Amino acid sequence: MADLLKTLRETLLMGPGPSMVSPAVYRAIAQPTIGHLDPAFIGLMDAVQEDLRSLLNTENTLTLPISGTGSAGMETCFVNLVEQGDRVLILSNGVFGTRMAEVAGRLGAEVDSMDFEWGAPVDTQQVAARLKEKKYDLIGVVHAETSTGVLNPVEQIGELARENGALYLVDSVTGLGGIPVKLDAWGVDAFYSGTQKCLSCPPGLSPVSFSARATEKLQSRKTKVPNWYLDLNLICGYWAGEPNSSDNKRAYHHTAPINMNYALYAALREIVNEGTDAVFERHLASHRQLVDGLEDRGLAMLVSAPHRLPMLNAVKIPQGVDEAAVRSILLNEHAIEIGAGLGPLAGKIWRIGLMGHTARAENVERLLAALDSAV
Ligand code: PLP
Repeated sequence: MADLLKTLRETLLMGPGPSMVSPAVYRAIAQPTIGHLDPAFIGLMDAVQEDLRSLLNTENTLTLPISGTGSAGMETCFVNLVEQGDRVLILSNGVFGTRMAEVAGRLGAEVDSMDFEWGAPVDTQQVAARLKEKKYDLIGVVHAETSTGVLNPVEQIGELARENGALYLVDSVTGLGGIPVKLDAWGVDAFYSGTQKCLSCPPGLSPVSFSARATEKLQSRKTKVPNWYLDLNLICGYWAGEPNSSDNKRAYHHTAPINMNYALYAALREIVNEGTDAVFERHLASHRQLVDGLEDRGLAMLVSAPHRLPMLNAVKIPQGVDEAAVRSILLNEHAIEIGAGLGPLAGKIWRIGLMGHTARAENVERLLAALDSAV
């Protein structure tokens, strides 16, 4: 039987994730698997937590990578913080906001969803007006909406959430590692991300962070966390974040994905060594280069300039162009992947990712040249 691994070819990943994985991260994954309670692995866990805190600009003790993709991080935040009947407000302007509302609803929360135009940011004036009328236990929003390429005003929403007395939950699956994330300054109480976007790891881990307020809510729940695998009370017994970090003993909960944690360690080290300012600037420079190149070719962006994400570029499909055929030529003839639109934007946009290691001038040039022959 053919070895299917030998049929895989390297593809330039310029879609909505996963992104290109750096050689250092591949080397890290190939290191020997050791035990999940081996002191060498525990040292690496500590280092991952420390680098995450630094990238998230937070002092949060409870900061760790959940085993699973970004959706596991989303579930972790909701399942630990929401109880039956809690009032939850989701500010939604894309697929991932919609998904947040779905997850909260499954936990028996009373969910209000404020829906905003796909391709435009959340309107903070409307949010402020709503929050004058009703108190919430938790307000959730997506920082970098991958389905549209919109950057949401998370800092301003944080101020409104604080005035309302609600816990503030932010999804930055796509933002982390590509644009600044400042949990403490923005008053974010719960946060999740993913490894396969701007952190440039394969998919498989979801960094999560809880503030002291969120941790307090977790510890004062009236009911048990309804999901054993994602129960942070138990997971912290292994990762030694709060609530039970004092004796620094590690209790087995589930077997950590050892080599994925090596990958995350290496990816975070690369970002620290390059310097976050330089990393963010590289994303912006690639984004500007891409937008200029697209506009030179008569293509238009979905999102207005001030609200664009550098790492996710939504491009309007010109009339008469078969968008799926273009993606297929790019993939089959040029080994470049870009993404399609989702939901109401299906068939209307392409999504071009410039995430992590993908965000480089030579990749933008290669894509623009390939587009010239494909469109
Ligand atoms: N949230 C956002 C903003 C995302 O872009 C994604 C994935 O693209 C997710 C959540 C879900 O993450 P995953 O697909 O890794 O489970």
